Amino acid sequence: MRLDLVVKNGKVVTESDTFTADIGIKGKKIVKIAQEIDDDAEETIDAKGKYVMPGVIDAHTHLHMPFMGSHSVDNYKTGTIAAACGGVTSVIDYDVQQEGETLHEAVERKKKTAFDQGVAIDFSLHPGVTQWGQETIDEIPDLIKNGVPSFKVFTVYGAWQVKNETLLKLLDVTKRYGGLVNVHAENDDIIQMLNKKFEEEGTLDPLHHALSHPPEAEKEAVERLINLTNYMDSRLYIVHLSSKMGLEAIKHAQTQGTNIMCETCPQYLFLSTDNFKEPNFEGAKYVMSPPPREKEDQEALWTGLKFGFVKTIATDHCPFNFNKEKQNGKDDYKKIPNGAPGIETSLMLMYSEGVAKGRITINDLVRIMCTNPAKIFGMQDKGSIAIGKDADIVVYDPDAKWTMSIDKLHMNVDYTPYEGMPITGKPEVTISKGRVVARDGEFVGDTKWGEFVKRHLDY
Ligand SMILES: [Zn+2]
Repeated sequence: MRLDLVVKNGKVVTESDTFTADIGIKGKKIVKIAQEIDDDAEETIDAKGKYVMPGVIDAHTHLHMPFMGSHSVDNYKTGTIAAACGGVTSVIDYDVQQEGETLHEAVERKKKTAFDQGVAIDFSLHPGVTQWGQETIDEIPDLIKNGVPSFKVFTVYGAWQVKNETLLKLLDVTKRYGGLVNVHAENDDIIQMLNKKFEEEGTLDPLHHALSHPPEAEKEAVERLINLTNYMDSRLYIVHLSSKMGLEAIKHAQTQGTNIMCETCPQYLFLSTDNFKEPNFEGAKYVMSPPPREKEDQEALWTGLKFGFVKTIATDHCPFNFNKEKQNGKDDYKKIPNGAPGIETSLMLMYSEGVAKGRITINDLVRIMCTNPAKIFGMQDKGSIAIGKDADIVVYDPDAKWTMSIDKLHMNVDYTPYEGMPITGKPEVTISKGRVVARDGEFVGDTKWGEFVKRHLDY
């Protein structure tokens, strides 16, 4: 058979195995895996000494997200270029329903934005439910049928805050039609109470953002969500889990048979409350909700990832420039836009601090960054190296040594929270659907290449 691309001599990694093999690609698909492929091919990549792993699926991003009259500063074009350079081959972006908009309209609006701006890799959408009428619930079966099966709600953020009544209806309709509810879990009353207290005391620096979001607020919301999920005999996915307390509640519920899943993000493994104390307002760089916490929380989350209580790593990529948008909160942490960049750096951080340092195996890494996100969110053609899957592949150099710096990255923002961190390993080639889209840290793809992926949950 004449092939388009062969990746030779690499150490192929799946969630269960690591083995040396050649991979043959024709069109957009993996068509052959063998000890040796000697078919003719348009192009051959020698991956000797390198890992050959599935492309990362980042199931939590906010590209071009409307915020205070502006947008998060990576749009679809710049964000997906950066993603490709970091070994990411699919993103699932959050798309909050605007006032007066149906969920269908929200999805169509964001798809149009993506194709208008340009999108370098495949993408899908989780609509955020913020309009509470029955008509919104009634839209859900049709969306699920048409490949949009996951829906986000918030237990915080004022007008977006979901009522228990709506949550119960969402748990019911997603259970009946094969969908999934994703939740941002923090108790808003605790946060508002502390905001008021700090306002009165005049302590409005970035550290007090962290102090106004204590882990107890996460724990309270997580436990409520567990109870409601149990009561409805449904299932639920908690986004960006940050605390040991929250994780303990989830572990307990999972061992009791509750179908509750959770993701965490690199920022909760690598950053802590100490970062908020950095001088010259630099703590603003880490303002996000929930905030990074303490060392013991980081350790608990690593253990949770290793043993499968935490299912996935995603980034919650939502960048704002330190020297611009973040400065809006110079005098009040509540005005600092929430979010940080991460779409490009997640694989490098997880390999360097996770695999190279022995906290997780390379197979664990593939499970939590590729295979589990594909399974949980219904991307059947992605997330593993197997015949018939999309040829979304990263050739990863495990030995490269370099220092993290915003100068070497492609995200459209003026800082990385990980500046100066020594890193082991680097993506050498990123392949999206059979086509090389990034090589040696530079984008070589096409911003018309990304397609909208319809998803179906088969569990
Ligand atoms: Zn988010």
